[in-house]
Amino acid sequence: MALIDWVAGYLKTFGIDSARSGDLAAGKANLFATIGPKDRGGVILSGHTDVVPVASQKWDSDPFALTERDGRLHARGSADMKGFIALVLALVPEAVAQPLSVPIHLAFTHDEETGCFGAPHLIAALPDGAARPHLAIIGEPTSMQVANAQKGCAFFRTTITGRDGHSSAPGRGVNAIEAAARIIAEIGRVGAEAARRGGGDRFDPPHTTLNVGTIEGGAAVNIIARDCRFEWDLRAIPGDDPLRMKAGIDAFIAAELLPRMRAVFTGAAIATETIVSVPPLVPDPGSPAEALARRLTGANTATTVAFASEAGLYQQAGIPAIICGPGSIDVAHQPNEYITREELAAGGAFLDRLLGWARSAEG
Ligand SMILES: [Zn+2]
Repeated sequence: MALIDWVAGYLKTFGIDSARSGDLAAGKANLFATIGPKDRGGVILSGHTDVVPVASQKWDSDPFALTERDGRLHARGSADMKGFIALVLALVPEAVAQPLSVPIHLAFTHDEETGCFGAPHLIAALPDGAARPHLAIIGEPTSMQVANAQKGCAFFRTTITGRDGHSSAPGRGVNAIEAAARIIAEIGRVGAEAARRGGGDRFDPPHTTLNVGTIEGGAAVNIIARDCRFEWDLRAIPGDDPLRMKAGIDAFIAAELLPRMRAVFTGAAIATETIVSVPPLVPDPGSPAEALARRLTGANTATTVAFASEAGLYQQAGIPAIICGPGSIDVAHQPNEYITREELAAGGAFLDRLLGWARSAEG
């Protein structure tokens, strides 16, 4: 929130109002601001303000104080993606100096790293009609390559409630761990089916994946396990729908597991909650977002990124989106994360060209 306050104050000195949205009760906010005419679409420059933790990482300098060593600017979030946000803010004096024919919108979000929880609030508050933004550039670190495809990402938690009892008579209870094992086997089967189906040649691996990441359950070796819960993730190629695939798992549970469990104990239950759901970015080579990003970078081809971002959320809301920003994803989330001065200069040159376009383009 301190960062958002600072940005709002900075924009104010240029006469730019900003609007907040998001989880304000929890002390978290997105910031949205428009430079230029307010009666037409324009381009969103999107960056998330949060970072991943530094706990248990060995840093050679204070991760929260930008430190230059050998032309590298080290700090948590320097590449992902506070370097981009800094470049956007540094563009503001230039952007207000002359009238724009196409507005530039600043969209800075909270809680991207934990599951893109901020962006949906910001997107929901975007204007409709003539003033609705035409396209969004997500400045995630792609080394200024134009990325038009990414997998969707969903996290689920499945909780099973059975009935405990003495382990010498398993048939009198309902073993939650046993039910979990059946569901996990089904998740494995769905994953193998997705791998056979393929369909994501631009990705590595070239298919939708499912993975069970945690499990806990049971009280003691000689007690029928009453409780079990496990967490799993699903990374979907464009075209596969994570929530539809989850619905398939739910249908398996309803048909194959619950009736037998409830025949023994009517209180048996299995519930799967969605913790995170971020849609994929579906390649749309003809979109105005990709056309503009290619024009500004000179790129002839578009690439694919393995990480998740907010791009699919904008696309889902009818705003074409593209991922293009300075710095390398390889150093993001790592100790001694950095962005080089050259990388920042490349990002700055991109934004200068964008500004030139926004002055001269036909609204
Ligand atoms: Zn990021």
